[in-house]
Amino acid sequence: MATLEIKDLHAAVTTDEGPKEILKGVNLTIRSGEIHAIMGPNGSGKSTLSYAIAGHPKYEVTSGEVLLDGENVLEMSVDERARAGLFLAMQYPVEVPGVSMSNFLRTAATSVRGEAPKLRHWVKEVKQEMANLDISAEFAERSVNEGFSGGEKKRHEILQLSLLKPKFAILDETDSGLDVDALRVVSEGVNTYSSNNDAGVLLITHYTRILKHITPNFVHVFAGGRIVESGGVELANELEESGYVKYVGKPEPAS
Ligand code: ADP
Ligand code: MG
Ligand code: MG
Repeated sequence: MATLEIKDLHAAVTTDEGPKEILKGVNLTIRSGEIHAIMGPNGSGKSTLSYAIAGHPKYEVTSGEVLLDGENVLEMSVDERARAGLFLAMQYPVEVPGVSMSNFLRTAATSVRGEAPKLRHWVKEVKQEMANLDISAEFAERSVNEGFSGGEKKRHEILQLSLLKPKFAILDETDSGLDVDALRVVSEGVNTYSSNNDAGVLLITHYTRILKHITPNFVHVFAGGRIVESGGVELANELEESGYVKYVGKPEPAS
């Protein structure tokens, strides 16, 4: 049983006008096997939460703690966070020209596992997981993220999850840019990863549609840089009906 604890987290983003406080005291505990959904309006600070935990240089944690089994995540390098069992999609580079997916994934697996996976087993493993995610074989030879569509990037994220098997995964807007079929495949990938590895998942999203495929144990409403309400799936259903109006005090602009 592993635990990821976010305690009274405050964080600021660096802007041209100086630091701007975005996170205003986030408290959340995720245990092995639990799926938590964080839902909130645009601009409420959801991505800032994942960047702050990932250690993105533009986001400064001004107070609070993030602990993985009691270890201070915020003092770890990005590599150490991965080795400790934390997966954050954005901790990986956006595009790596000249590095094939299969090499990139093997390097990542070597770093996380502490030894290089045996090549023959590795090739089989990658093939199997790619097939599960409906990813074509030629994908393995393409450069990392180069020219990937939105949907391909998301499948790549889930492929990493299924190969690296982190204890905790923070997935930001995993549903954006996916058509219905891709959404189903990606969701099944998240469900399989979570149940096979007894992993904890923090699923950050603006829309309720992914929750038709992934059933969270807990739903949290995020507004104004913090969690303002927590509940079960019924909370997501309520959000689908009435949106975030109640939490931000005004209707969302049509997008
Ligand atoms: P969400 O993911 O919920 O849509 P974000 O975390 O992306 O929200 O953004 C929260 C707030 O922080 C917004 O007001 C946004 O404009 C601001 N913000 C985020 N990143 C930056 C940045 N790099 N520079 C300036 N402002 C930013
Ligand atoms: Mg946004
Ligand atoms: Mg966002």
